Amino acid sequence: MKKEICPECEKGILQIKKIPYYLYGEKIGDFAGEVCTKCNAESFNEGQEEQIEKTVKELWLWGLETETKIRQTGSSMSITLPKKIMQFLDVHKGKEVVIMPVDKHTLKVKI
Ligand SMILES: [Zn+2]
Repeated sequence: MKKEICPECEKGILQIKKIPYYLYGEKIGDFAGEVCTKCNAESFNEGQEEQIEKTVKELWLWGLETETKIRQTGSSMSITLPKKIMQFLDVHKGKEVVIMPVDKHTLKVKI
């Protein structure tokens, strides 16, 4: 395998390593990248940025999963949206949405 010279310091050699990735102080995971043997400059490999983005998205969505109750409002039922979900989706009172059952256990809301 060809040894790559670090583009930062032009002295060190880039080694493939697992680099921990942090976002807002929280560790997202370890991703494959190259680390310079001299200046320790880190860069993620091609395709890894996509993987990081996907992982961050999954973590955020997982963090947004919340239990809510179905309430009676007149003859209809309503579901309340927690503030953090409203902020994430950027929705507000009065916004029209489309609801659609996906199966017997899932309701999809198109914003
Ligand atoms: Zn370097």
